[in-house]
Amino acid sequence: MTARTPVAPPPALVWFRRDLRDHDHAALSAALRTGGAVYCAFVFDTDILDALPSRHDRRVHFIHGSLQALDAALRARGGALIVRHGRAVQHIPALAQALAVGAVHANRDYEPAAKARDQAVAHALAPLGIALHLHKDQVVFDGDAVRTRAGTPFTVFTPYKNAWRQRLLQHTSPHAPPDELPDLAAHPCAGPIASPPPRLSTGIPTLADIGFEATNLPELGITPGMPGARALWDAFAQGRIQRYADLRDYPARRGVSYLSVHLRFGTIAIRALVRHALALRADAWLDELIWRDFFFMILDHFPHVVERAFKPAYDAIEWDDWPQGLAAWQAGRTGYPLVDAAMRQLLHCGWMHNRLRMLTASFLCKDLGIDWRLGERHFAAQLNDFDLAANNGNWQWAASSGCDAQPYFRIFNPVSQSQKFDPQGDFIRRYVPELARVPLPFLHAPWTMDRSAQQAAGIVLGRDYPLPIVEHASARQRTLMRYAVVKEQG
Ligand code: FAD
Repeated sequence: MTARTPVAPPPALVWFRRDLRDHDHAALSAALRTGGAVYCAFVFDTDILDALPSRHDRRVHFIHGSLQALDAALRARGGALIVRHGRAVQHIPALAQALAVGAVHANRDYEPAAKARDQAVAHALAPLGIALHLHKDQVVFDGDAVRTRAGTPFTVFTPYKNAWRQRLLQHTSPHAPPDELPDLAAHPCAGPIASPPPRLSTGIPTLADIGFEATNLPELGITPGMPGARALWDAFAQGRIQRYADLRDYPARRGVSYLSVHLRFGTIAIRALVRHALALRADAWLDELIWRDFFFMILDHFPHVVERAFKPAYDAIEWDDWPQGLAAWQAGRTGYPLVDAAMRQLLHCGWMHNRLRMLTASFLCKDLGIDWRLGERHFAAQLNDFDLAANNGNWQWAASSGCDAQPYFRIFNPVSQSQKFDPQGDFIRRYVPELARVPLPFLHAPWTMDRSAQQAAGIVLGRDYPLPIVEHASARQRTLMRYAVVKEQG
């Protein structure tokens, strides 16, 4: 009898997308478990890049920096990241074939366009005899994992949250600490990475090579990649997380984690954050991570939300066509100081505090009477952490058209919100410098200053800072009438 030589498992390709880290990574872990050589690739997908409104995009800059960190980490493990610029649907099958892999592994995406892209890639791989395996990684639970008793997807947050927690705790026992949970931590990613043949590895293109420019990310103190995520997490975990519930609503305070851009591009794992939040008993913060899962679940099961209201009755609302109102809102020139400060923060940093996202979104649809989709689009263009699921879900919450949304008759008052959440006016003064010398009693509603008060503050309203473009009380009445159609439909 002749001894059989064991057949080496075929190599695998890990296709990185919005998961730019080399640890706690479902697709990488699955590829390593096959026992074959593991190659790693990323595609600057022109189907996405060409649709961006500007060549000066902080997200592309952030991804570029994150790839450098990922490549360095993979090199330390013997490999390197293969980076391509072009259509994923062409590059991934071509690379898979050139590397003679048995399968491509990637983490599942829930956006309709990404699902269509993945289907197209799987379709192109099939004739080559190569499978595309998609893994759950971006969320804690997906698919049918958290369902109502009737087996349908949840559409209300609180029961979803309770079921989500219950499902998680099913896996927890006093003998098995959370980081042993199979669902959360069955993703060890240790192991060597294969070095790609030199002809296939040409290094990471520069931003200019892919047609983009550097942005003010470094000036903002935003460090991309795993090191940036780690530093933010360490700073948050060492104290601030315990005060999150008290400080999270005050934009002038450092009360939140600022991790959203890292969660968006997967430079930190959601599982790791959930494990830490459980260990630190940071319930209020964990709830926000559950909201994140909730909106991914909604987008996955109800993709019509991308174009239309979650609740169809709200599609009957007639919005005002008011380009000047939209432009004033976008530029932070509505005459309402906290709204303007928030909109200017967005333009300057690509980030806005959650309380202010709620306020400015409400202001657009319920004070200016402008379609929430136009606001959603502006946020999508500007936010570093733009995520279709969270952005759409929250805009529909603010417009009252979403699942479990703010009731339509709840309309934020931009002045009382300002008094409550920026009581000393620190945030307003930071982003609206023309109001810097306005005394606190007038700061939240500067139009109440008479001429001499304006003179003392060194400002002329209507010249140096706008008068309010709408009067809140009458705008509120118009909104109640506008939304009456919803009751008629219902
Ligand atoms: P933290 O308060 O530290 O929360 C931790 C994480 O939980 C966040 O990073 C985020 O991943 C998640 N999270 C927190 N709040 C929410 C929420 N309401 N919905 C879903 N996930 C949440 N978040 C995005 O990540 N991308 C978006 O495009 C986005 N658009 C929004 C649009 C509007 C109109 C509103 C009201 C909210 C939007 N949010 C969005 C949610 C929220 O404002 C941001 O996640 C948060 O401000 C990010 O800051 P942080 O990381 O410090 O959050």
